[in-house]
Amino acid sequence: MGAIQAGSTGLAPRRISAVTGSARAAIAHNQAMVLPAACLFDLDGLLLDTEPLHAQAWREAAAHFGCPLSAEQLLALRGRRRLDCAAQVIHWIQQSGGQPPSSDALLAVRQPIAEALLGHARPTPGAVHLVRRCQELMIPMALATSSSRAAVELKARPHPWLAAIATRVHGDDPELEAGKPAPDVFVLAASRLSVPAAACWAFEDSPAGAQSALAAGCQVHVVPAPDLSGDDRARLYPGIEIFLKSLEQVRLE
Ligand SMILES: [Mg+2]
Repeated sequence: MGAIQAGSTGLAPRRISAVTGSARAAIAHNQAMVLPAACLFDLDGLLLDTEPLHAQAWREAAAHFGCPLSAEQLLALRGRRRLDCAAQVIHWIQQSGGQPPSSDALLAVRQPIAEALLGHARPTPGAVHLVRRCQELMIPMALATSSSRAAVELKARPHPWLAAIATRVHGDDPELEAGKPAPDVFVLAASRLSVPAAACWAFEDSPAGAQSALAAGCQVHVVPAPDLSGDDRARLYPGIEIFLKSLEQVRLE
């Protein structure tokens, strides 16, 4: 019996070894959770739930000129600057056989609809907590948005928590050369925080925005448009590896 007990005792080192292996894995996992040097946030559809409101404004404006827009067309407008969207919508109106309006005429219809809607946008799930968590951990933050300064002021007015993101690149920023999907917005936001873009986590919702952040070299976290199939997601967000259901899934430990 003594020999058997001795043999049982002989198992102990293997058990200890197994525990040690788990502990090593846990340590490695924690070490992998390196905090970002900075967080770069998109605004529309990412921090504020404005995309259904933008889509409604574009849908109504295009319909005014006789061109109904599909869900896929509305998704393609996401994340882009207003004038870039207007050029695209005018192209679609022309393609559909309509008389294309000037950019000014289209925006004269679209802007009042948008402005009436956008002041009522709500935060997306997890947005307020994530911004406050970055603040607590003293992680630098910047806004990297296609929206103009005036549009951001309108949308941010009911949201004092957004004031924590003081560094901002707007769609009409004088230093910005090209809008999303070009990388310039994220490159400029990182440079204003004096951090390499590659050390930043970028948070995006739109295909154009995700492409922009990826091209800038950021680690990109995407909260994709809802109700996309896996195939659509892979097609619309090429190269993106981190998809989140909402910002509630972001863990900064
Ligand atoms: Mg967006």
